[in-house]
Amino acid sequence: MDLKLDVEELIKLRHHLHANAEVSNQEEKTAKIVVEFLKKFKPDHIWENVGGHGVIALFKGKEAGNSIGFRADLDALHIAETIELEYASKTPHTAHKCGHDGHMTMVAGIAAYLENNPVKKGDIYLIFQPAEETGEGAARINKGLNELNIQLDYLFGLHNIVGYPKGQILTKKGTFAAASRGMVIKLFGKTSHAAEPEYGISPVMAIAEITTQMSVVHITNPFSDLTLATVIHSELGEIAFGTSPGYGEVRITLRAMRDEDMQKLIDFAENLVAEQAKKELLEYEISYTETFPSTENTEEAYQIMKNAGEIAKTDFNELEKPFKWSEDFGQYKLQMKTGFFGVGAGEDTPHLHDETYDFPDDILLSGINMYVGLMKYFKLN
Ligand SMILES: [Zn+2]
Ligand SMILES: [Zn+2]
Repeated sequence: MDLKLDVEELIKLRHHLHANAEVSNQEEKTAKIVVEFLKKFKPDHIWENVGGHGVIALFKGKEAGNSIGFRADLDALHIAETIELEYASKTPHTAHKCGHDGHMTMVAGIAAYLENNPVKKGDIYLIFQPAEETGEGAARINKGLNELNIQLDYLFGLHNIVGYPKGQILTKKGTFAAASRGMVIKLFGKTSHAAEPEYGISPVMAIAEITTQMSVVHITNPFSDLTLATVIHSELGEIAFGTSPGYGEVRITLRAMRDEDMQKLIDFAENLVAEQAKKELLEYEISYTETFPSTENTEEAYQIMKNAGEIAKTDFNELEKPFKWSEDFGQYKLQMKTGFFGVGAGEDTPHLHDETYDFPDDILLSGINMYVGLMKYFKLN
């Protein structure tokens, strides 16, 4: 692949973004770095502060044609940088350990590519969304696109995938990444003297029953595909040996490969909580946070990516199984046609969210090349 890009300049951008890592919803500096870079390539328009610190750049063709979006994510994680890097994160306890610095650089690379290959027909939107890790950003960009009256014929996104050879393009029909959400259960009872628990209402039995049943829900219930509940936190009463607890909390991550199974899992969990609360005379509250729908590719989206992969002569591979993690890219399918793929990040690269992870610069061009294939497929330039 010869995209005639200044790779050194792109690597410099990736390192600059890495050094200035910011967590979800604080991506102010990151967005500025992206905007400064994009401006060099004279987009027709740049919108800033879309849905938080989101950035959208438009490159317009002279003739009407397809309107295609490419999406990257701005946020880093609350993980300290523990490896020696010249461009180590300067932000305390914050670093790009999911490779979003690489994702941004690849989408910014489209702008650089367009310098020598301007859009002829149609429009290209480069979308840099905030808050992917918390599952909030994509929904806010959806809203922002509506407000700006921007309609896309297709939106594409990627994630670097550890455990696969560098530069491989990986995708599949149907579910690519799981749906997940955080369930917060609050149980309200009444304290009493520890010597007289019979005068109080303790959530202890309900918590025991809820955490036990949810931990085996994937065995006790029929689901059509992998479905899982992981109890991640639980709290009960105070550290006071004279008091029987009157309040408890449980937090559970619900995960499913299919949105239908997710609904089944939610119904099961809500019924279980209601039943246990009734039995133990507790009041309760249920809320959800970090909601990610599943990331899916329709048959059409898969075929488009396959064709684009061939046009760009990528090492295109169909995955057998979806990934158990979640990606908030799944939100976009609720509003527009979408396609999502992975780029192999190396078999021996540390796992995503591992403190020793660092995005491999030598896969930058593979991602950009696939984007170029998609632009060619839609006859944009
Ligand atoms: Zn991540
Ligand atoms: Zn990520």
